[in-house]
Amino acid sequence: MKTCRQFSNVREEHEREIGFMIGRSKQHEGKPAAKASAVRVRSAKEQMARALNSHLRRCPECDTRSRRS
Ligand SMILES: [Zn+2]
Repeated sequence: MKTCRQFSNVREEHEREIGFMIGRSKQHEGKPAAKASAVRVRSAKEQMARALNSHLRRCPECDTRSRRS
């Protein structure tokens, strides 16, 4: 799938944030805080998917023809 620069920016931003969260949840491994972090990571991933999907719907540059819906 061909995507534009802004798509990559949005994805990288979210992935960086998710990476931080995963790192933090590993620090808390075995503690209750780890569970909370895991929940935050999951919702951050959902948020990323939503942001990317809404970008694809609006962006004239991204080639969405090959997108699986
Ligand atoms: Zn785009």
